[in-house]
Amino acid sequence: MTASASIRHDWTHQEVQDLLSKPFNDLIFEAQQVHRTHFNPNEVQVSTLLSIKTGACPEDCMYCPQSGHYNTGLEKEKLMEVQKVLDEAKAARETGATRFCMGAAWRSPTKKDLPYVLEMVRGVKEMGLETCMTLGMLTEEQATELSEAGLDYYNHNLDTSERYYNQIITTRTYQDRLDTLENVRNAGMKVCCGGIMGMGEDEADRAGFLMELANLPEHPESVPINLLIKIPGTPLENVEDLDPIEFVRTIAVARILMPKSHVRLSAGREDMTDEMQALCFMAGANSIFYGDQLLTTDNPEADADRRLFERLGIRPEPLATDRSDEDEAAELTERVEQERQSHLFYDAANA
Ligand code: SF4
Repeated sequence: MTASASIRHDWTHQEVQDLLSKPFNDLIFEAQQVHRTHFNPNEVQVSTLLSIKTGACPEDCMYCPQSGHYNTGLEKEKLMEVQKVLDEAKAARETGATRFCMGAAWRSPTKKDLPYVLEMVRGVKEMGLETCMTLGMLTEEQATELSEAGLDYYNHNLDTSERYYNQIITTRTYQDRLDTLENVRNAGMKVCCGGIMGMGEDEADRAGFLMELANLPEHPESVPINLLIKIPGTPLENVEDLDPIEFVRTIAVARILMPKSHVRLSAGREDMTDEMQALCFMAGANSIFYGDQLLTTDNPEADADRRLFERLGIRPEPLATDRSDEDEAAELTERVEQERQSHLFYDAANA
């Protein structure tokens, strides 16, 4: 596979596993090539995430402090008032976020709650922010209502490989998740879908997970790759740490398989050194959550993010609507030309 190869949806498990186990430098080189073909390598999309309803979730996801099945000491909260959500969105916009993600710990939204959620979507959208929600499983009708209210993205993760899935969640099936993703797509929304690494899965599971994502009929526009945060009280609190290099490899392969998707460095970032985050950006991650909170777990302070961006010469990606197609095409051509002239990469394998 080279940077110019076309977008594929027919990856085999073996192909993905071969990518995951490539020599590290070759893998990062390939991921950078793909990344630079489709994105400005020095821009990272910035989202802010707010928990609009916390805890007491009926699902049993074994990593999650919000599951009502485990005692993690998390304070439960009812659905947040619409105005409070809008105030938070306004504050997020002022700190430079272009997308506002709202998460509720539900199996799926209820009839009673959905009208409030729709109001939140309309209000946040009116501020000029992109909107994203994660509310659990959606029926076709619910997906359509959310889409009509102006919801741009819906987040629903596959979490892991199909094979490992029932070690992690028993209250909903892999197929349930695929069905929700299909309902979201059919309603015309963009898909945010990824998973969590370091839950005790092996490399074959990470390959299976990436293959599932890459072989969806359309690649998710946003692919969050999380590193497990081990929460005391959850069944995964003592699971063995994932080798950080394996995590970076997962990011790189996600980038190669889904060249046009934003790969998001998501939960677990607060446990990463700046150097590890820099490696992830090099491997093709180009989206982060920014701010004080990542749903219920700590997120690195916003100032630390700003400092890291400065040190790496990274700037927040502007909203896509800020640029015309012509501007984007011109920028891409210029970048390709600059790279060709600077011989930034010397590909020893092909020399
Ligand atoms: S991950 Fe979502 S669905 Fe699973 S327990 Fe947590 S809040 Fe509920």
